[in-house]
Amino acid sequence: MFSPSLYATTLSEFFYKPISLAAPPAPHLVALNIPLAQTLGLDVDWLHSPAGITSLCQGRLPTDHIEAPHTNPVASVYAGHQFGHFVPSLGDGRAALIADCQDQNGTMMELQIKGSGPTPFSRGGDGKNTLGPALREYIVSEAMHALNIPTTRALAVLTTGEVIERDNGPVPGAMIIRAARSHIRVGSFQYAAAHGGLERVRELADFTIQRLFPHLAKEVGPARYRAFFMAVIKKQAALIAQWMEVGFIHGVMNTDNCALSGETLDYGPCAFMDRFDPMKHFSFIDKEGRYAYGRQPSLALWNLSRLAECLFPLFDEDEHRAIEQAQEALHEFDHLFHHQWLSGFRRKLGLEKQDEHDIRLLEHLLETMHTGQADFTNTFRMLSSAPVALEGQYDVLRDLFPANKGHFDLCRTELLHRLTLEERSPEARQKAMQATNPRIIPRNHQVEATLSHALKGDYQPFHMLHEALKSPFTEAEDALAAPPLPEEEVRYTFCGT
Ligand code: AMP
Ligand code: MG
Ligand code: MG
Repeated sequence: MFSPSLYATTLSEFFYKPISLAAPPAPHLVALNIPLAQTLGLDVDWLHSPAGITSLCQGRLPTDHIEAPHTNPVASVYAGHQFGHFVPSLGDGRAALIADCQDQNGTMMELQIKGSGPTPFSRGGDGKNTLGPALREYIVSEAMHALNIPTTRALAVLTTGEVIERDNGPVPGAMIIRAARSHIRVGSFQYAAAHGGLERVRELADFTIQRLFPHLAKEVGPARYRAFFMAVIKKQAALIAQWMEVGFIHGVMNTDNCALSGETLDYGPCAFMDRFDPMKHFSFIDKEGRYAYGRQPSLALWNLSRLAECLFPLFDEDEHRAIEQAQEALHEFDHLFHHQWLSGFRRKLGLEKQDEHDIRLLEHLLETMHTGQADFTNTFRMLSSAPVALEGQYDVLRDLFPANKGHFDLCRTELLHRLTLEERSPEARQKAMQATNPRIIPRNHQVEATLSHALKGDYQPFHMLHEALKSPFTEAEDALAAPPLPEEEVRYTFCGT
């Protein structure tokens, strides 16, 4: 059952503006996530019908789906540090929260439409989304979900029938409808602190706690807010470790794209890396590599520090003690991240035991992958696959390190030695490793190729890739695990426009 967005019905209007959504001229559904629709209790036939999809674009749900007769779409307001510079007023410039619902697991989810037209926060933009970026978000966010990584979910993509002018020429207009536990960002708190003061920060914190961390609501006074901040830190540490484990590069870790729920949010210029390179970045506007793969943990901490600047006055009545509390909590991030990262990478290598030299072993392997130009995903997958397991014939593995095959032999010796500490059978280990090291990820060249077909009207490659990415861990005979040939490589991604 849906209800009007609790964000709008609970929080004061300081945090959002009601908007009305115009019906797109000729909406046409091009991708629908049927399992997600079912989890949310949405009628799939209704979504497939022209009347259904037109209503949904305007934020209207069937009356038998909703508690109140109308939903009231709103655009939320937020601020944010973009590439390190504070922008005091951003907000949903092309998105609207339309409704909440409890999914089949009992989790409250929020539905948002992106590309629904101008809002009071559009700042001169047209409020529109286009087909390429909408499909990109659909395929990559659903691939993240299949990899068990917290993320906003994609419910549907539709074309609107409009032609939109962008830098690269006229492109089809589109909308994506997505679901998340919450879209509240670090930037939402920055807006509250900058324009509303401590009472607004407290209001938003209480709402976020109720929504995302209800078990903390029983805490009273400053302890509640300290526990809340710690819970957010834990979620970020876990999320970034999971990104690192699959070679995901978010690309635009601004504070307005950092969700307190610990869900991956904003799929603009993100991409998965092929060859392992700690400084890999794709985003065309990120010239300096500020948001490169290896910088993501420190960027997350930087974002959390901006959140601390908003929240700390709630931590203690004494300002000095409040700042100390914030600093202590932030210090935990490194520890939490390191712990998550190490256990994640141990799992990737099939290591159940903990050995004090594991870090060195992992660092050596990663360094060898870097200098050897090894494909990140395929290296870990090959290490997990029975016929080329370390103990046996390993030419295939060696070939993964084209630039330093000999160097890999040293890693192999170290790994074999380390495995003598393990008690699991090689078969059990390989099974566990295959369940943790994906065979396929949404490689950038594959995603871009399917998008260019879709833009020409052929959605078949898009659907096939999306379908395959639903089972990233199972063995299959297809070409999707192949890294790009040099001429296929896609070097740049762009903020979704
Ligand atoms: P992003 O780079 O996607 O995180 O977006 C940064 C800000 O720009 C957000 O406040 C967006 O709502 C806004 N924005 C991006 N594209 C548009 C657009 N076409 N029209 C209006 N606002 C936009
Ligand atoms: Mg954004
Ligand atoms: Mg974006």
